[in-house]
Amino acid sequence: MNKIEHIGIAVKDLEESNGLFSKLFGQLHYKIETVESEGVKTSFFNVGTNKIELLEATKPDSPIAKFIEKKGEGIHHIAFDVDDIEAEIKRLKNEGFVVLNEIPKKGADNKLVTFLHPKSSNGVLIELCQEIKITESDE
Ligand code: ZN
Repeated sequence: MNKIEHIGIAVKDLEESNGLFSKLFGQLHYKIETVESEGVKTSFFNVGTNKIELLEATKPDSPIAKFIEKKGEGIHHIAFDVDDIEAEIKRLKNEGFVVLNEIPKKGADNKLVTFLHPKSSNGVLIELCQEIKITESDE
């Protein structure tokens, strides 16, 4: 596992929070992306070498909507960059972690992602993400 790739923050109103976090960081988000399969609309900020992701639910049964209902707005997950997500999934399963998506999914910001259930990691939802490399055969 490499560095922290980003920290995800669940918000009720992405537009309002984009304004708030722009003031906090002194700069605008660099992209907005909706991941329809996950029921989220996300925005990303660069803060130095760090990245912050804001997440708003796009539908009432979205995991983000459920999170906010239970816990309110706030830090939702910590994402770690990995080189080989499939190898990490195998390794972490063997270590006893509960992997939510054994087959990694396409996430926001050009990543393959999976999550570890917070019950197996002291209440912290962990995201693993691997940058999707465009190879010539995909073009
Ligand atoms: Zn994330």
